[in-house]
Amino acid sequence: MNACILQPAYSNFQAEEQVLAAAGFSLTTAHITAGNPLPEALINAEVILIRDTLLGAEVINHLTKCKAVVRYGVGYNTVDVDTLTQRNIMLCNVPDYDTDEVSTHAMAMYLTLLRRLKSRDRDVRQGIWAVDDREPMYSPQHSVLGLIGFGRIARRLLEKMQGFRPAEVLVYDPYVDLHTLSCFGVRSATVAEICSRASMISLHVPYTPDTHHLIGAQELQNMRADCILLNTSRGGLIDEKALNQALLEKRIFGAGLDVFEQEPINPNSPLLARENLIVSDHCGWYAESSMNDLRTKAAQEAVRVLRG
Ligand code: NAD
Repeated sequence: MNACILQPAYSNFQAEEQVLAAAGFSLTTAHITAGNPLPEALINAEVILIRDTLLGAEVINHLTKCKAVVRYGVGYNTVDVDTLTQRNIMLCNVPDYDTDEVSTHAMAMYLTLLRRLKSRDRDVRQGIWAVDDREPMYSPQHSVLGLIGFGRIARRLLEKMQGFRPAEVLVYDPYVDLHTLSCFGVRSATVAEICSRASMISLHVPYTPDTHHLIGAQELQNMRADCILLNTSRGGLIDEKALNQALLEKRIFGAGLDVFEQEPINPNSPLLARENLIVSDHCGWYAESSMNDLRTKAAQEAVRVLRG
């Protein structure tokens, strides 16, 4: 067997099958169940496609023909990379299928918070029509945007936000050179400057020991009262306890979180009681089209490996 999807998370594999069949390769699926031997289809596969399944040494060391593991998506912290390396098995990922979706999601959260759509929707349904008696709202026009991380998603978000004609865009990304930043019309800034000046701060960095709690009590303390903080990257970037306190005391305007320190977030988390917070279930990446794109690109990676 050429390729095998392990613990398939989808009900059909048409996209993958089409790509592999067109290139003359076969595809199967396999499940690992506790207490049972590993399926032959997996042991003999040349390429294994996985989504969120943990892939450790206890499986990898039994693979006889495997040349590569293809991970649907960006991260690969579910895979034992050391054992793959020892066994000379490549690891491929699909990093760029959801740039549009995540940037749209960040923007949707921003606008929903900015226009207070949560409470307006609820009020109207309850018969409250208080047009002139509202908490303050702000315009996105001519605001200062802060982007922390300036990779694929942040750049796409910038493109979308340009329509609001921001007065200034501040970027913190020590790995992007100043010339590139100036080509995008943005200015390099420290996290501290972004926190003190921006009215929209969106996080687009990976979660590493360096970025753990990048936004903590101090950063939140320094933010403007009209600041909206967005996190569509990874939960650990924000100290949730400190964020809860800032939202409770209305020290910032609001926050939008698609990701959490622990996922799924405990429904009893005090954070979820905050009115000025909007949340979603790590679905920023999702759209029918991006899902199809992900599956097609994962299969294309498999074909690249199988063709040598
Ligand atoms: P990317 O690799 O294109 O960009 C990341 C940027 O972060 C790079 O420009 C890099 O230079 C910068 N960076 C790295 N370490 C940094 C640090 N310590 N300080 C500041 N900048 C740093 O990644 P991307 O595709 O734009 O994704 C960004 C984030 O979005 C990732 O954390 C990813 O896991 C997350 N993500 C979330 C979803 C979702 O569904 N919510 C989907 C896809 C990606």
